[in-house]
Amino acid sequence: MESEESLFVLGGSMTIEIAPGVVMPVALAFGLLIGSFLNVVIHRLPLGVSIAFPPSHCPACETKIKPWDNIPVLSYLWLRGLCRSCGSSISLRYPAVELVTGLLFVAIAWRFGPTWWTAIHCIFVAALIAAAMIDYDHQIIPDSISLGGLVMALLLVPAANAWYGAPYLEALLHGAVGATVGAGVLWLVAFMHARISVALGRQFDHWPGEGESLPHPTEADYWLWFPGLGLGDVKLLGMIGAVVGAVGVLDTILASSVIGLAFGAVQALARGALGEPFGFAPAIALGAIASLFLPELWLLSLYEF
Ligand SMILES: [Zn+2]
Repeated sequence: MESEESLFVLGGSMTIEIAPGVVMPVALAFGLLIGSFLNVVIHRLPLGVSIAFPPSHCPACETKIKPWDNIPVLSYLWLRGLCRSCGSSISLRYPAVELVTGLLFVAIAWRFGPTWWTAIHCIFVAALIAAAMIDYDHQIIPDSISLGGLVMALLLVPAANAWYGAPYLEALLHGAVGATVGAGVLWLVAFMHARISVALGRQFDHWPGEGESLPHPTEADYWLWFPGLGLGDVKLLGMIGAVVGAVGVLDTILASSVIGLAFGAVQALARGALGEPFGFAPAIALGAIASLFLPELWLLSLYEF
């Protein structure tokens, strides 16, 4: 007789048993493939070009990459990180994104088993990786990821909760409250930071830049333009809140503040300059992933309210 730990059981009206020996390799393979797709998304989405066409090509020599040279991680290893046609080096980032996605999918499958939660959290983590990398490169978070992810989360998370027995409206409310708390808390921080910065007479590229007057409360800029933190970060935390709930998103914000401060300190040491702008989404993504795998309130509990 097999022990209960060796089997996953899909809940709800469908009950199937799958051995973890099957689930983990499938999760890894799937994660590596999605990671390979994310590389394309990260590269092309901010440029506004099609994700589907043209097929992957070497950025140096434009040669189309053959399917057998496009196998996640493995191709990079057997090509020794060099393009087969022109020999120029392929960024280590490509296999790194693939490997990280693969390992996170395995961790999610291990944590949630073969349930809808595994599928939902895999989509969630894929969106976080894309948002983090695009923000790192361009200091923007595409709305298609943050708002698209928010809409998807508000559809899928309550549906999954209802599948596992929760009343649908309650589940929908739970997601909506999470999204509102996530976006609202960060918006408030950004808004207060903007008001305090202005009161202290700090200068920014945008208002109050040269020849610009300060925005008035009747203007959208007053409420929606912030130095340092972008509205993209606010939308991203809305998406995260819809997935992890109000408490989870507070954990995320606390964790990402600590991670963001550490990023900022490392960058200041490396460049010898304080206060240089950097994308905050990588810190938010790390905080959100931490809050997925650690129990709720893990960070809040450190403060022993
Ligand atoms: Zn090449």
